[in-house]
Amino acid sequence: MFQADGYDVVVVGGGPAGSTTSALVAQAGYRVLLLEQETFPRYKIGESLIPATWGVLDRLGLIDQLKASHFPKKHSVQFFSKSGRASSPFYFSQSPRVKNPQTWQVVRSEFDQMMLDNARAKGVEVHEGVRVREVIFDGDRAIGVWAKGPEGEPVRLAAQVVVDASGSRALISSHLKLREEDPKLRNASMFTYFEGAQRDPGLDEGATLVLNTRDQDSWFWYIPQPGDRVSVGVVAPMNYLVRPPKRSPQEVFDQEVARCPGLIPRLEGARQVEPVQVLKDFTYRSRKRAGDGWVLVGDAYGFVDPLYSSGVFLALKSGEMAADAIRGALAAGDVSGPRLGAFEGEFLRGMDAFRKLIHAFYDKDFSIRGFLKEHPELQDDVVQILVGNVFREDVEDLFVPMAKMTSLPASWT
Ligand SMILES: Cc1cc2nc3c(=O)[nH]c(=O)nc-3n(C[C@H](O)[C@H](O)[C@H](O)COP(=O)(O)OP(=O)(O)OC[C@H]3O[C@@H](n4cnc5c(N)ncnc54)[C@H](O)[C@@H]3O)c2cc1C
Repeated sequence: MFQADGYDVVVVGGGPAGSTTSALVAQAGYRVLLLEQETFPRYKIGESLIPATWGVLDRLGLIDQLKASHFPKKHSVQFFSKSGRASSPFYFSQSPRVKNPQTWQVVRSEFDQMMLDNARAKGVEVHEGVRVREVIFDGDRAIGVWAKGPEGEPVRLAAQVVVDASGSRALISSHLKLREEDPKLRNASMFTYFEGAQRDPGLDEGATLVLNTRDQDSWFWYIPQPGDRVSVGVVAPMNYLVRPPKRSPQEVFDQEVARCPGLIPRLEGARQVEPVQVLKDFTYRSRKRAGDGWVLVGDAYGFVDPLYSSGVFLALKSGEMAADAIRGALAAGDVSGPRLGAFEGEFLRGMDAFRKLIHAFYDKDFSIRGFLKEHPELQDDVVQILVGNVFREDVEDLFVPMAKMTSLPASWT
């Protein structure tokens, strides 16, 4: 079933992070194996992309397929206050610094399939329905994985580098107890899909809407999907959304909709077409990015709140950075932790920019609108984070004046 006894790289997980890393390493001629426990297409939440995904998707050769897809085009993000008042949309094209100001609202089962097929086409040996049970360590050094074959048989696979792209399952960081929470972002989400809900016309058709509820206890995303479908989800602190007395997810969801003046008119006459799903406590990161023979990418390293739709972008970007580090490490015959995780400082600064802007949003006494009234010259700096232009040295400058108006977390190191 497997084409070799040993591989240069074994990748655990076939989501966006695993597909990106594996494709870019295989393109350099290395022998790459990717193991995915599910059989694609599989459902996944996380449908809104941000413009900065363009660069990695282009390098992967996927832009033409995306242009030809039925995914709605996203040109902007729009915020709705607790009273239902709409901000002017943040059009990505308004920023002179954004090279590709349009992105997509994807159906993840189709998008992830497209990415995995692309990895295959680039020479990655992909096996679906194969779960990795554990990473094999020789001392501190990862040397391969134990997988469970389709008949349930254990299979030992050796590799010079193990890439953990297992998503929130976070195989290696859970095993090594490296997971760290952000105590202020212990949130939960309940989400479903509607048909017949209001869609804005023209350029705004594919916009992501972020809608506050009364008292700002929670917020909703409103993400247009192909056809007549809209993804609608509510996010709030866990101790607010899943608190006693016990109510069904549907009851809680309906109650929050009723408290969201911006959302009520949009859902009038719409039909809910899926049961409400729940996810909790999704913000975390690993205290370490890499070790000898292993490196973490995408959610297997960390995830910060869905608010600014940064998850898939960070999965693609960390996949790209890790792939370049792995290629260099294999070429140099040095797969040590420092070499594999050399991109960590640059990556963390970018991820932290999203996290700080997320903290600011959750401060009920602070508003970006108010901040920009005092600092109109910083409007484009905020847009830069919303589009994902975060991997630059001066990304933190915005937070110096912002820290005077709201309490921001200390930087991740
Ligand atoms: C409520 C919510 C809303 C979100 N909304 C957005 C959004 O609008 N936009 C956005 O960009 N992001 C969003 N995200 C985040 C986004 O979904 C993730 O960041 C993204 O899927 C990460 O990609 P990944 O490849 O790291 O992990 P995944 O996409 O989770 O892929 C991991 C893969 O690994 C496989 N796997 C796991 N364990 C094993 C194993 N042991 N062996 C083999 N395979 C294994 C899994 O089956 C899975 O296919 C949201 C997240 C949440 C919680």
